[in-house]
Amino acid sequence: MRSRLLWLMIVLMLVISAVPAAAQEEHEHDLHVVVTYSILGDFVRNVVGDDDHIEVTVLVGADGDAHTYEPTPSDAEALLEADVQFENGLMFESWLNDLYQASGSEALRVVAALGIVPLEFEGEHGHEHEGEAEHSEEEAHDHEHGEFDPHIWHDPNNAIIMVENVRDALMTLDPDHAAMFQANAAAYIAELETLDAFIREQVATIPEAQRILFTNHDTFGYFASQYGFIVDSALGSLSTEVADPSAGEVAELITEIQESGVPAIFAENIAGTDLMQQIADNAGVILAPTLYTDALGAEGTPGATYLEMVRYNVTTIVEALTGSM
Ligand SMILES: [Zn+2]
Repeated sequence: MRSRLLWLMIVLMLVISAVPAAAQEEHEHDLHVVVTYSILGDFVRNVVGDDDHIEVTVLVGADGDAHTYEPTPSDAEALLEADVQFENGLMFESWLNDLYQASGSEALRVVAALGIVPLEFEGEHGHEHEGEAEHSEEEAHDHEHGEFDPHIWHDPNNAIIMVENVRDALMTLDPDHAAMFQANAAAYIAELETLDAFIREQVATIPEAQRILFTNHDTFGYFASQYGFIVDSALGSLSTEVADPSAGEVAELITEIQESGVPAIFAENIAGTDLMQQIADNAGVILAPTLYTDALGAEGTPGATYLEMVRYNVTTIVEALTGSM
């Protein structure tokens, strides 16, 4: 009898501690979700599905650059109301800690990159950040952009881990809808697996020596590592938050492009195309149609969802690097 009572108490305690703060409020199923950028926002919406009890707010929207983003007062309001905040992590959102703190938010912070083995930035082609030469090596090591590549989403295998992290957090926060989150995530993960197979098939049509991506900044590290590309960029940086390259650096890149023999280089939807157009013209190569890199495209564009964005990028890369453009 006593042990049964004790058992009941333990079960009760477990149940109470498992009830999320949101469910104890008046609107029992209202879950306010904030997501820092559009690509992760798409993952979250795919796991949430049609459930209108859940409100999803994305801070950095289509074509927005999360590296250089300046938060607005409405972002702080959204965070204050939020039960959970999904973020990329790996210092992609360098402004987030300050915003979170200033907003007074108590939202649970879920890092989508959790469980992904991060790539270290090689930076062999990189030029120094403005003023960085004045810092000691130790200070440079603590640089706020971190030393790991945050662009995990360009590999759909990482996207699967990100979706699983979103699913697990939502299941914990809203256990009444756990089965729905699980089913939605499973269906979406199946599409991500198909996407991975599509990329392998497409990349196989590019001669190995031509698998080189010259872009604005170093965004395709995980894509390159998974599918066998070499990457190089005009900014020579994991972030767009750096000064434009000097004339000497541009000249060096032009020589590298010419020596590589690639027929095309690439601009990104989160940055202007002027610099890459100038480099392409001087190197005598084509500037391919703009790729979707750190953000989705606007609705109605070929990059409006993650699945569309990656298919568009891969198709564009294949056409550009096989000279069929
Ligand atoms: Zn980036």
